Amino acid sequence: MPRDLSTLAPPPLNGRTCTECGAQIPPGFGSCDELFMFILTPLSQRGQDSPEAFRLARLFVDTFGMQHPARSGKSPKSYAAHLTGLACGVEYNCSRWLYADLQKWLNRPAAQSGLRRPVDLPSRGTLTVRFIYDAPDQAEADRRIPVWARDVWEAYAPQHELSRSWIRAASKR
Ligand SMILES: [Zn+2]
Repeated sequence: MPRDLSTLAPPPLNGRTCTECGAQIPPGFGSCDELFMFILTPLSQRGQDSPEAFRLARLFVDTFGMQHPARSGKSPKSYAAHLTGLACGVEYNCSRWLYADLQKWLNRPAAQSGLRRPVDLPSRGTLTVRFIYDAPDQAEADRRIPVWARDVWEAYAPQHELSRSWIRAASKR
């Protein structure tokens, strides 16, 4: 299968504004993806030793993903992965058991799981990755990640029932 290059291209900028999430991209960064990696890389490194940082990194990825669904949630499976991951992070306190159940469920053939991808919501939260970048120090950045995640999750209210139905399907197996 040919590699889908569109999944690798960063979201376009309109001036300094990300066209997908609306973040103002600071000087020195060429795209929202660069800002994402700038924050994720050290957070993931800390996650190797710290379960809390590991959970924050996961939440950070799912939150960013649901603000960029055109790329991060292109397929029904990837959309479901980020939406249920975000739900798990916000509503189930990043339960590692639920993450594991979701991963197993998502890895079944799509035909079995009967996933359909919902349409993108026009509004996907009031905060962006820039809110994390603007934190004055690491502790505050860590504190802000769940705040941002909840803001995005609340914007996805029209898809909460769908997300919960997927979580029920994943956790009853
Ligand atoms: Zn963006």
